[in-house]
Amino acid sequence: MRSPVQEYLESIVEQCGGTDGEVASYIPELADADPDGFALALATIDGHVYTVGDADLRYSIQSISKPFTYALALADQGFEAVDAKIDVEPSGDAFNEISLASDSGRPRNPMINAGAITAASLVAGDDGQHRFQRVLEWYGAFAGRELDVDDAIYDSEITTTHRNRAIAHMLREFEVLQGHPEDALAQYVRQCAISVDTRDLALMAATLANGGVQPVTGARVLETTSVERVLSVMATCGMYDSAGDWISAVGMPAKSGVSGGIIAVLPGQVGLAVYSPRLDKHGNSARGVQLCERMSRDMEMHLMHVG
Ligand code: GLU
Repeated sequence: MRSPVQEYLESIVEQCGGTDGEVASYIPELADADPDGFALALATIDGHVYTVGDADLRYSIQSISKPFTYALALADQGFEAVDAKIDVEPSGDAFNEISLASDSGRPRNPMINAGAITAASLVAGDDGQHRFQRVLEWYGAFAGRELDVDDAIYDSEITTTHRNRAIAHMLREFEVLQGHPEDALAQYVRQCAISVDTRDLALMAATLANGGVQPVTGARVLETTSVERVLSVMATCGMYDSAGDWISAVGMPAKSGVSGGIIAVLPGQVGLAVYSPRLDKHGNSARGVQLCERMSRDMEMHLMHVG
């Protein structure tokens, strides 16, 4: 017998079509994505993964990397040291805003690029290669498989990312970053180029939903106190400058990326992931947002749901 969950997911995918939005092109390599590429995955905390569409299609993780690197920085350095460098206030600014909070001189949160580049610099390691290897293994522990990097995406971004380069140098000037800003920049751009599929992302989200324990491997990846922190920051800052709209309409901690992925976490229950590379004006996957709103409503997933 076919699962009712599977049938439900297939039906809403059919109903929430949509060709609105544009594929990101400011990183040249991203423009090659098939605009109609699509996948949805829902992973339960007991490790069952439902999928619709091309759940094995690979793409670069982009900004969905940010909560996971922030989690690693917290695990490596502790809350106090990380908080001294990165605030947790929503900024309402664009993700790539070139600015620091005027009162504290810190990046406003770890979900904007200034905060994410800083978090990347806080990952422990003997050198850049070791630090990055740890990031790759860390994401892999959440996904439950070994991941790798899409070098074409990395090369495409590192040679064109003048804005992130400016942010990294600004962070060095204001002593938020130690060491060479190009090292932190390379670390950040490489983490964004890690290749994932939608099943991986759903399991990464489900690991957060499951309090830091990967639902399939059973490994504890993250302490619960860090899970709470990461989910809080995702809830307030995860969806670019439409975080308020998102939390009102969908009501789950989430993170999106410019390659077209979105993850959402319903604590204690499921991790969701959607991929569709056409982006709305905020930079979020247009079809992804539509589907998450629909699922939240139908399945009463909104965390503030009463009744
Ligand atoms: N690597 C991208 C950048 O920094 C990530 C952006 C995103 O997904 O929001 O521009």
